[in-house]
Amino acid sequence: MEMPVPSAKVLADKARIVKRLRKVLPRDAVIDDPAETRAYECDALSAYRCAPLAVVLPRTTEEVAACLKLLHELRVPVVPRGAGTSLAGGSMPSADAVVLGLARMNRVLEIDTENRFIRVEAGRTNLSVTGAIEGQGWFYAPDPSSQLACAIAGNIGMNSGGAHCLKYGVTTNNLMGVTLVTMQGEVVTIGGPWCDAGGLDLLGVICGSEGQLGVVTEATLRILRQPEGARPVLIGFGSNEVAGACVADIIRAGILPVAIEFMDRPCIEATEAFCHAGYPDCEALLIVECEGSEAEIAEQLGLIRQIATRHDPVEFREAQSPDEAKRIWLGRKSAFGAMGQKGDYMCLDGTIPVSALPEVLRRISEISRAFGLEVGNVFHAGDGNMHPLILYNANEPGQQELCERMGAEILKLCVEAGGCLTGEHGVGLEKRDLMEVQFAPEDLEAQMRVKDVFDPAWLLNAAKVFPLRVSAARRGG
Ligand SMILES: Cc1cc2nc3c(=O)[nH]c(=O)nc-3n(C[C@H](O)[C@H](O)[C@H](O)COP(=O)(O)OP(=O)(O)OC[C@H]3O[C@@H](n4cnc5c(N)ncnc54)[C@H](O)[C@@H]3O)c2cc1C
Repeated sequence: MEMPVPSAKVLADKARIVKRLRKVLPRDAVIDDPAETRAYECDALSAYRCAPLAVVLPRTTEEVAACLKLLHELRVPVVPRGAGTSLAGGSMPSADAVVLGLARMNRVLEIDTENRFIRVEAGRTNLSVTGAIEGQGWFYAPDPSSQLACAIAGNIGMNSGGAHCLKYGVTTNNLMGVTLVTMQGEVVTIGGPWCDAGGLDLLGVICGSEGQLGVVTEATLRILRQPEGARPVLIGFGSNEVAGACVADIIRAGILPVAIEFMDRPCIEATEAFCHAGYPDCEALLIVECEGSEAEIAEQLGLIRQIATRHDPVEFREAQSPDEAKRIWLGRKSAFGAMGQKGDYMCLDGTIPVSALPEVLRRISEISRAFGLEVGNVFHAGDGNMHPLILYNANEPGQQELCERMGAEILKLCVEAGGCLTGEHGVGLEKRDLMEVQFAPEDLEAQMRVKDVFDPAWLLNAAKVFPLRVSAARRGG
């Protein structure tokens, strides 16, 4: 993946830049020893690595502002980082960039159940937001599978989703306000703990902006009352296409389960070998979860059973106890790790209309055969957010490139089917050069003008999202 040529001036000036950073930040908040900055050289797209110039780990919004103001004055690129779990290379640095990590800013600032919000520092991990309120019967809905590690900062950066976002929406639907520091060091508050802010919906612009517009330091998040109960059902099918058709039928019937997750045979087999979840021997399975009162769950599951029966399921297993429910989810939650035991894989993230699922799954199998690389599908089927995992051998020359070309074909297919290049992982480096498949030059120009307003010098995460050729003039390249 091409990166812009690092600024020779910035590289030559490293010692002076670090010295100036140490004047505005506590000594332990600036890391420049190459042995330590190495830990920041990649995110979860670990095939690509580059050690940064330095890393800063501020503890307050004021420290973030002081640091950005200085780096703006010195014209040093900055890459904001939450927990570094991006699968799209979103938080991978360049050699001339300072990584600004939010990991030390993880406090809960306010919990207000009367007005249904929690305010946290943006470095707080996703799961620990719910951890702070579950004792009082509340939860924060967006639940990326990486929720134990990933930070709210990165969730906002990527507009992240998760298994339960079919019903509750993704980050943008649960974000009420942010404190944002601009590259010039100005602190702005956007939105807040009320239903809607006056003026333009800038919060919608910030959420999903991949660290391009400013650094989020605090977030006000919508919290929800825990449901009375929830129950998953596991449904096995004879083919991917039939499972896909069943998803489309459930949604068409107007039923809104809290989650509909899909796994195909390669993922089922890998998962069984990995954690023995007791999944049936079938080509594809769905995990459908309904929640509410006992009567609501029974009604929804009854309708889902009727629909599934029309697709000749191999198995229909309704969880009869909390333990059985856990076992049904165990395989799905372990699927990425299980596929990792089979070999190297690249995780794609594209969105398609739910009605296109059967056809797109069929075409993915064809692409897999044509390229000679195995694909496993495990994804949020209810909202058409696909995650094909392409297996390859990183040690075999040429396989990485083959895998990337195959990934590009699948993502183009998603756009062709009426979908989008990204679902929840963002564009980052990974899909940067495919943006022209989805957007006309004037669309990209309009998006870049938004960045011009927030970051006129193009210092924030500028090698991401926009193809380098398209953004070259703005980056001074
Ligand atoms: C095993 C695994 C499973 C995953 N499952 C899911 C899933 O189910 N759903 C999902 O959506 N994602 C998933 N992901 C991807 C990833 O966890 C999400 O994109 C997550 O939101 C990234 O959070 P992070 O804190 O690690 O962000 P980082 O990787 O640090 O950063 C992500 C992006 O946000 C920007 N950013 C970071 N901090 C800030 C800030 N303070 N201000 C402005 N911009 C900032 C970065 O520059 C970057 O562009 C998964 C990843 C892994 C490894």
